[in-house]
Amino acid sequence: MSIEEARKLVEQCLTKNGCSADNSRDIASVIVAAEADGCISHGLFRVPGYVSSLRSGKVDGKATPKIAKTGAATLRIDGGGGFAPPAHSAARQLIVDMARSNGVVVAAFVNIYHYSALWADIEPLCSENLCALAFTSYLPSVAPSGGTKPVFGTNPMAFGWPRETRKPMIFDQASSVVARGDVMLAARDGHQMPNGVGIDPLGRHTTDPNQILQGAMLPFGGYKGSAIALMIELLAGPLIGECLSFEAAENDNRDGGPPRGGELVIALSPDRIGKSDWPSHGEKLFDKVLQQPNTRLPADRRYANREKSKSDGLEISKDAIARIETLN
Ligand code: NDP
Repeated sequence: MSIEEARKLVEQCLTKNGCSADNSRDIASVIVAAEADGCISHGLFRVPGYVSSLRSGKVDGKATPKIAKTGAATLRIDGGGGFAPPAHSAARQLIVDMARSNGVVVAAFVNIYHYSALWADIEPLCSENLCALAFTSYLPSVAPSGGTKPVFGTNPMAFGWPRETRKPMIFDQASSVVARGDVMLAARDGHQMPNGVGIDPLGRHTTDPNQILQGAMLPFGGYKGSAIALMIELLAGPLIGECLSFEAAENDNRDGGPPRGGELVIALSPDRIGKSDWPSHGEKLFDKVLQQPNTRLPADRRYANREKSKSDGLEISKDAIARIETLN
């Protein structure tokens, strides 16, 4: 299937399930970009979850985001109870313009439902010569270090650095050992997870994805990942006036889609803040890393997949296509 065909398939499905044409376009573009970049856990596999939340009425597919300037360098984007991609599309140009003039923008996305990979939110900013960070929370799925019950979401964070002659360096990682979507995929396909990913409802280590989904996932790097998950709860919650993961769970209807939540995006302009040699200075670090065998930069796998998808198309199983078509 070509990228364009996949986009049409997803767009049509979202529109038939209650999204406005603009929202369908924004959401489909993010879903298909994940598939094309080889981020399968946030690709077409997620479409049934998006549709469940549209059908249950939890998420407003016709939401129109509202943007308020709350300070010289702060923005509040109210997603109107819709999915996150339309809120990002609405705010993107303003974030770029404000970061260029102020040096920094702190953008609080509230009243949104985030179900996608975070890199998609910051890559367009980094492509405009901005350094950017993003944080969001999720439903409680991760036990705090030492604990056995989920408190934190899988809470991803992304950091991107612009590059003059290449695509930006971006890392985008969950605070759990793996993304929850990977555990869901393993449960669906009957695979075991590696050791250390999660525990069962009694707090015992297990490789069974179904037991992990009922029990808890573990933070990456023990107490260090636990601290990062804690920070992200605060940044995407109380800092911006949105809910914590466990509060989101209290109000969630468990339709299989994402919970309501917030996302913090920070954009920084090295042109404003640093010295004019920032691009070559950053490259020195990347060169040092890449001089060593077996190293690569974060996002390079995705960019290689993207090129392959453009030339060869997407490998999507007939089952996955049929699953989406039955939702029409
Ligand atoms: P991974 O562990 O697969 O990858 C994390 C990061 O590390 C990526 O940027 C990846 O780059 C990079 N990386 C991986 N291997 C190497 C290596 N050998 N050398 C250098 N860099 C490397 O991601 P996660 O499983 O933690 O997260 C997957 C996705 O799930 C993310 O996109 C995240 O945003 C999303 N997510 C979304 C949630 C939501 O609520 N919306 C909740 C939780 C997760 P590359 O991509 O190039 O491999």
